[in-house]
Formats: sequence, C-alpha cells, structure tokens
Amino acid sequence: GRSAALRARMEERLLSARFRYINQQLYTSSSQEAVQLFQNDPEAFKIYHRGFAQQVGRWPENPVDRIVRYLRKRPASLVVADFGCGDCKIASSVRNKVHSFDLVPLSPLVTVCDMAKVPLAAESVDIAVFCLALMGTNLQEILEEANRVLKQGGTLMVAEVASRFEDIRAFMNAMTQLGFKSVSK
Ligand code: SAH
Repeated sequence: GRSAALRARMEERLLSARFRYINQQLYTSSSQEAVQLFQNDPEAFKIYHRGFAQQVGRWPENPVDRIVRYLRKRPASLVVADFGCGDCKIASSVRNKVHSFDLVPLSPLVTVCDMAKVPLAAESVDIAVFCLALMGTNLQEILEEANRVLKQGGTLMVAEVASRFEDIRAFMNAMTQLGFKSVSK
C-alpha cells in the first residue's frame, strides 16, 4: 500500500528529472547532436515526450492550440511546415497540407529528419511553425532552413517559453538579419 505509493511517486520524480535533463540537452546541443542523442537512446525520446506532455498539460494554455486556431481562420490552401512537430497535433487538427518534421516518429504523419535540413523544395510553404521547438545551438542554420522553404512573404510562427530568451531584442534583431520582419509579438 503505502510503500507502493511512495515508490510510484519516486519513479514519477525520476522521470520528470530525466525529462528536464533531456530538454536541457536539446537546448544546449546542436541539432546533429540531438539526432545522435535519440538514436543512441530511443528510450530517451519516450521519456522526453511523456514529460513534455505532462509539463504543457499544467499550463493555462498550450501554444499549439493557439496556432491551430490561427490556421483554422486562414485559407486551408496554405501549406504548412511544422518543425519539431512532436505528436503532430497541428497536422491532425487542420485541413491544410502540413509537412511534419521530427527526429523520431511519434505519429505516422512525421517525416523523420533533422530540422536543419528538411526534404522540401525552396519556397514551397506558406507558414513555418516552431512550437516549443526552437532548440539547438545551430539555431541560425535551422532558421535559415525555414527561410529557404518559405515562400516570399510567407509567415514564420515561433512559440517559445519566455525564460528561454536571454535577450528578446537581440533575438528579434537577429531574425531581421535573417530576412524576417516582425508582424506581431
Ligand atoms: N511542436 C510540438 C512538440 C514540441 S517538443 C508541440 O508543440 O507539441 C520539441 C520537439 O522538437 C520534440 O519532439 C523534439 O524531438 C523536436 N526536435 C528537437 N530538435 C530537433 C531537430 N534537430 N530536428 C527535428 N526535431 C527536433
């Protein structure tokens, strides 16, 4: 009875500690290293996504829902690329053509690849999304990839935890340098 409950609680704590550890690894290593991380330890991905879902479940709003609402208000003919798609909530919630990219396939809708190099032609999408997925120390390369696949005048949507930014203004300036114009924040 009580010892089983204690054991379950301790296991839960260990899992959430592992989630935070993996999450931190993803934010502090290059996307090529992230590929290696999950290839060497497939279990890590399951733990990561369980922890991710738990964490986001505690927030008052999940940003992916907001992105889905935004997409539903715009024409279904717009083509979307979802970088670091996780469980493909976007692809499964809208009528648009959605290209979903991640390192490991949580859903059959995922195209497995490093988001720094996606199998899409230049200027082929209208909307590129990074929902809690702007990870990796090679961010510049990743955002240049998003820029490459976006059509002229296309839209880049970023949802990220505020505390992840050391300096929002520097980030916005860097985005301008990469060719993006801020439309709303
Ligand atoms: N966008 C989803 C999932 C966010 S979790 C949502 O909001 O629900 C972040 C996701 O980014 C994870 O699934 C992780 O595997 C993926 N990711 C991290 N680095 C990546 C990379 N280099 N290439 C592709 N996907 C990556």
